[in-house]
Amino acid sequence: MSGIGRKGKPQSVNVYLRIRPPNKQERDAHSLTCVEIPNSKEVVIKQQHGKKYCFEKVFGPNSKQVDVYLSVVKPLIPEVLAGYNCTVFAYGQTGAGKTYTMAGGSVNSPSASWHSDEEAGIIPRALAHLFEELRLQQQQEYTVRVSYLELYNEDIFDLLSDGEDNSRIRIYEDQRQKGSVIVQGIEEVTVCNKNEVYKILEKGQEKRRTAATLMNAQSSRSHTVFCITVYARETTLEEEVVKMGKLNLVDLAGSENISRSGAVDVRAREAGSINQSLLTLGRCIKALVDRCPHVPYRESKLTRILQDSLGGRTKTSIIATISPTFSNLEETLSTLDYAYRAR
Ligand code: ADP
Ligand code: MG
Repeated sequence: MSGIGRKGKPQSVNVYLRIRPPNKQERDAHSLTCVEIPNSKEVVIKQQHGKKYCFEKVFGPNSKQVDVYLSVVKPLIPEVLAGYNCTVFAYGQTGAGKTYTMAGGSVNSPSASWHSDEEAGIIPRALAHLFEELRLQQQQEYTVRVSYLELYNEDIFDLLSDGEDNSRIRIYEDQRQKGSVIVQGIEEVTVCNKNEVYKILEKGQEKRRTAATLMNAQSSRSHTVFCITVYARETTLEEEVVKMGKLNLVDLAGSENISRSGAVDVRAREAGSINQSLLTLGRCIKALVDRCPHVPYRESKLTRILQDSLGGRTKTSIIATISPTFSNLEETLSTLDYAYRAR
């Protein structure tokens, strides 16, 4: 056993682990399971001298989408409604379950009736929950807007705009509110009820596919940011205030080129496939967790976009996703090490 003790510091990032069920290829190859889950917070890697990792919570291969939602995202909804920004990342190698966790299992099926859909992921569940809470709070005046961006090679693409022109997109700091970031020139769609979200997700994913084909790009190397902004107007006798809270749901690029030390794999560097945003995110999270005075937000597009939603009064969660079998052991260890460092 070589479990690493928890560092004595306040937690600013919650890290979760999700292990997907073995896929057909792994079952056909009779690939053996490499993980054991002794309890709801720990995972043990078989054969690596029983190396143990501890997380906020571990979701095993039989975990349901609703379990992940209730533990990871539900506690963030009151924060967003109170006007704070929150971010949830899905991190892991390609095929480990990031998109399944974030968007859901049947986003691509047009017949999906997702409100009764067990496979719905975090994005539709979060929107449904937000609308339900706004109704329960009898919040009369509110607006919910969503945007959906893709980042590929440090370029930003708007997945919800009808046009192809992305040259007008600019990121800048809001002068009126220090530290607040505005992404200018992107489509923000007003959502009025939970049923609209699937169409938005489908539109975004379709545009992502077409763009990837046109550019001959590998979609596993891009990040997507689904941002939900809630504006709630509150009037008291004295004043009128608009509270604005954001929930960023980020499906990260495949982590396969990040080595176990957290550096870029030499081969990936030679192939020129360094993912600047993924590396910088790791450095920013490390700086936040270590309470460093300087956080290198400005070194990548992803961290610039998320600057006002990482650190400070915001809440950040990471869901690391892994395969359960020995066939992916190297990548799994690399994901576990990356995620473990972020705690
Ligand atoms: P990634 O986005 O990390 O590349 P995906 O989310 O596309 O991976 O998952 C790869 C495949 O595994 C998909 O067919 C997906 O439906 C399936 N899958 C992933 N996670 C789970 C899970 N927890 N339960 C069932 N199927 C899953
Ligand atoms: Mg994916």
